[in-house]
Amino acid sequence: MDLSYILNELGEERENYFNAIAPPIIQTSNFKFDTVDKLRTAFEDEFKGNLYSRGMNPTIDILRKKLAALDGAEDALVFGSGIAAIAIPVIALLKAGDHVICVENPYSWTIKLFTELLPRFGVNCTFVDGSQPDAIENAIQSNTRLIYLESPNTFSFEVQDLESISKMAKKRGILTMIDNSYCSPLYQQPIALGIDLVAQSATKYLGGHSDVVAGVVTGSKDLIKRIFDKDYMNIGASMAPQNAWLLIRSLRTFPTRMEKISKNAEIIIKWLENHPKIEKVLYPFNPALPSYAIAKKQMKGMGGLFSIILKNADANQIEEFCNQLKHIMMAVSWGGHESLIIPAVAGIKRAEFNPSNERHKLIRIYIGLEEPEYLIKDLERAFKVI
Ligand SMILES: *Cc1c(COP(=O)(O)O)cnc(C)c1O
Repeated sequence: MDLSYILNELGEERENYFNAIAPPIIQTSNFKFDTVDKLRTAFEDEFKGNLYSRGMNPTIDILRKKLAALDGAEDALVFGSGIAAIAIPVIALLKAGDHVICVENPYSWTIKLFTELLPRFGVNCTFVDGSQPDAIENAIQSNTRLIYLESPNTFSFEVQDLESISKMAKKRGILTMIDNSYCSPLYQQPIALGIDLVAQSATKYLGGHSDVVAGVVTGSKDLIKRIFDKDYMNIGASMAPQNAWLLIRSLRTFPTRMEKISKNAEIIIKWLENHPKIEKVLYPFNPALPSYAIAKKQMKGMGGLFSIILKNADANQIEEFCNQLKHIMMAVSWGGHESLIIPAVAGIKRAEFNPSNERHKLIRIYIGLEEPEYLIKDLERAFKVI
C-alpha cells in the first residue's frame, strides 16, 4: 500500500462527517441501539462494531487501520501506553507453566513484566544475548511459547537477526514478538521478516510531539482478535479517542519528521565521532560494532537515538556534562520534536558507579527537529567545562 495513501486517506470515510478533512473525535463512552436484536448481535462480538469505547470506537478505528497498514499487518490494537501494548498481548498469549525467552537489555518495564509480574502467575522467562545466533535456540525448553525481541534496544542498540529467529521459531511452533519502537515501521518491517506480533510505544515517533502516551500492537487477524477477546477487554488499557485523533494528526507528518530527525542525527554523530573528548558513539549503523552487518541487512534507517561514552569518564564529568546543556533537555522518553539527554548514572546510586562497566558510562542522546548547528553549539559548550 502507498505510504501517502495510508497516511492521508486509509480508514477515513469523510462523507460520513460533512467531508471534513480532519476526522472528528468521537468522544463517547457508549453507542445507542434501536432493537434488542441489534444489541444482542453487538454483545456476541464486540470486535465487530461499536458498543462501548473500552473496545471499539470510530476515531480509534481510523488509527488502527493506518497503523496495521504501516506495519504491513492484517490488524492492529491500540492501547493507553506502549507498555500496555507489550504486557497485554504477552499476558493474553501465555498461561501458567509457559516459558518465555527474552533478549537481554529490553525496555525497563519489559524487564519487570518478565521478572516480576509474570512469575507471580507461573510464567517464567530466560534472558539471552540475542545477538549470538544460537543463544535463543539453545534456551528453548519444551514449554517455551514465546520469543520476545527488541531490535535494536534504546540504550545500547544490540540487534537480533529477525529473519533467522522467526524461521527457527516457526519450525518449532513458537510465537515471536518484537518491540519495534526504535525503528518504527518506516525503518524496519518485522512482519515481512516473519515476526508474529509487532509492538510499539506510540508515545515516541508515531506521536512525535511529546504530548501523548500510547501504544500499538499489530499482527494477524487471528492473533489480534485473540488478544482483544481475552485480556484487552478485561484489563482495559484502551486509548482515549482524543489521543487517537492526536496520533492520526501526527501521522500526517511522520515520514517528514523521520527524514529530518535522521539527517540531524547523522550530522551530529559525525561531529561527535571526531570530537577529542569522545571515546565512542554507539548506534546500530556504527561499522565498528558487531551489530553492523545485521542492522544493515534488516533496517532502512535509524532515526535520532544513540549513546555516547566520554573519554576517561567518571561520574562527576558525566553529570557535569549533562547539567551544562541548555537546549538539549534532560528528560526521559524520546521521539518528539525536542532533543533530549539522559545519562545511565541517573538510574543508579552514585556509590554504585563502576567506571569499568561500559553500561554505567552511557549517555543517551535523542536528536529532534532543531537545526544541528544549534545543538552542536550546546554540546560544544558542555564539552568545554569537562
Ligand atoms: C517508551 C518505550 C516503551 C514504553 O512505552 P510507553 O508509551 O512509555 O508505555 C516500550 N519500549 C520502548 C523501546 C520504549 O522506548
